Amino acid sequence: MKIVPALLFFSALIAADSDVILYNGKIVTVDPAFSITQAVAVSGGRVLVVGTDEAVVATRAANTKMIDLHGRTVLPGLIDSHVHALEAGLSEFHAPLPRLDSYAAVRRFLREKAKTTPKGEWIVVPRTFPTRLEELRMPTKDLLDVVTDHPVVFDASYVVILNSAALQKCGIDRDTLNPPGGEIGKDANGEPNGILKNGQALLKGISLGGHFTDEEKLRALEDQLKCYVAAGLTGVGDRAVDHEQIGLYERLHDSGRLPLRVSMTWRPDASRPTEELIRAIETARYTRGSGDDWLRFSAFKLTLDGGMTIGTAYQRQPYGAFGKQLYAKTDPDDRGQLFIAPAKLLAVMRAARNRGWQLTTHDQGGGAIDAWLDTLEALDREKPIAPTRSFVMHASFQSPEAIARMKKMGIAADTQSQWLYLDGAALEKVFGNDGMRWFFPLRSYLDAGIKVAAGSDHMIGHDKNRSVNPYNPFVSMWTEVSRKVTDGRALHPEQKITREEALKTHTIWAAWLQFAEDKRGSIEPGKFADLVVIDRDYLTCPEDEIRRIEPVMVIIDGKIAWQRK
Ligand SMILES: [Zn+2]
Repeated sequence: MKIVPALLFFSALIAADSDVILYNGKIVTVDPAFSITQAVAVSGGRVLVVGTDEAVVATRAANTKMIDLHGRTVLPGLIDSHVHALEAGLSEFHAPLPRLDSYAAVRRFLREKAKTTPKGEWIVVPRTFPTRLEELRMPTKDLLDVVTDHPVVFDASYVVILNSAALQKCGIDRDTLNPPGGEIGKDANGEPNGILKNGQALLKGISLGGHFTDEEKLRALEDQLKCYVAAGLTGVGDRAVDHEQIGLYERLHDSGRLPLRVSMTWRPDASRPTEELIRAIETARYTRGSGDDWLRFSAFKLTLDGGMTIGTAYQRQPYGAFGKQLYAKTDPDDRGQLFIAPAKLLAVMRAARNRGWQLTTHDQGGGAIDAWLDTLEALDREKPIAPTRSFVMHASFQSPEAIARMKKMGIAADTQSQWLYLDGAALEKVFGNDGMRWFFPLRSYLDAGIKVAAGSDHMIGHDKNRSVNPYNPFVSMWTEVSRKVTDGRALHPEQKITREEALKTHTIWAAWLQFAEDKRGSIEPGKFADLVVIDRDYLTCPEDEIRRIEPVMVIIDGKIAWQRK
């Protein structure tokens, strides 16, 4: 009996010993007071003490690993709220992707590819958006007809473009009917111009995802996640997992190969019948919160509209004259596509809410945002929606009215400033400067008290700076702070947020959106020791330097997960 208190005392003492101490640095804690201190001690994967060098070094034990920061800055482990890791991992699994930023580059790519591809076999132009081509014009079959012996498909996500050989192979001619919810683009003479909007179902003998074995997929996913760690990320939100991807993540986790914390968003195919979707929700073995601190489910997502970089996002207003060029629009009144009828959206989301899910939709255009908020309002009338931490995703074309509705209901925002940086200038040509006033309006969100999480929407390519979209979190924070677009201008600088706020969008607020703010997102005693040491001072370096900040060391769960060589 006597031995019990002694043992307790002993274990308490062990717990107070540090495994690792980082000292002589600038620790940006992101605690509620945004405290900045000198040192942090880690024990058992958790933060033990944060404070002055003196206070922290006092917890040193015989085998504590001491890391002298030499004045360097330490941030909480960064979170990217929105990635598509498997798709990106596979995109360069076999070969690096070319840089396709002009028609000439696309032609060059096709000519080269034709030399090594057997005649008659498909050639895929990897995902490229017309907003990122020098010409700012949606390609048609004419561009792709530089190759005639191969069917070619140009991947612009919800839109694909075929060359003449591909149209023939797929049996698409002037008499072919539009697929459900999709459109076959036509030229002035009524002939197919190669553009298929939401019409991938018409493709024959080609899967844009390519063919990979399970083992290849597992390796591609693991390698991509490791790249995230090297970029300073200790957690990501994978924003569209299906059963296959859930299985891959679980295999990685079960075999101890998950390099960082992953929060999964389940996205079933919204085109399935309502009853089938509801049944899938009710019978799924998981819901929000299923999993552990490494791999957990968070949101339930449906894709509500198309993309703004290809003119299918559902807007409040028509795409207008420049939209005709950029997106090859034929109808000047076209506003884009809403994929789900309101009654279906409400029924499916109600089922998901009743199963405990956090709710979200892909909603790019203003019309889609409004439709999503209508649904959330209907659900809110039945039962307050705020506790579910539901959110708009992208919500690129905001409005003061929509922001007021979000504030009233307690709806958060999952944002990606990379769309502003890379596409802002092109979209301004479509919608005018005034039409961009509420484009990713981070300042307005924060002033309204709306929680903002930030991510990249990384989907193609491995490199953190050259991929679509770049997942370098420092480029993201730089854009949030500067509102700079590719031509160097600040687009609606009144929407700038501070460096402190930008850091929160990638730490504590992103953790909040993952229901993890009690364990992650700041450097505080008891929280997971997820940290990133960086090569310059995020808070004081010149603004344009923010984007060039590089991680030096990344610690996850108290262990060094990556270190600069
Ligand atoms: Zn996405």
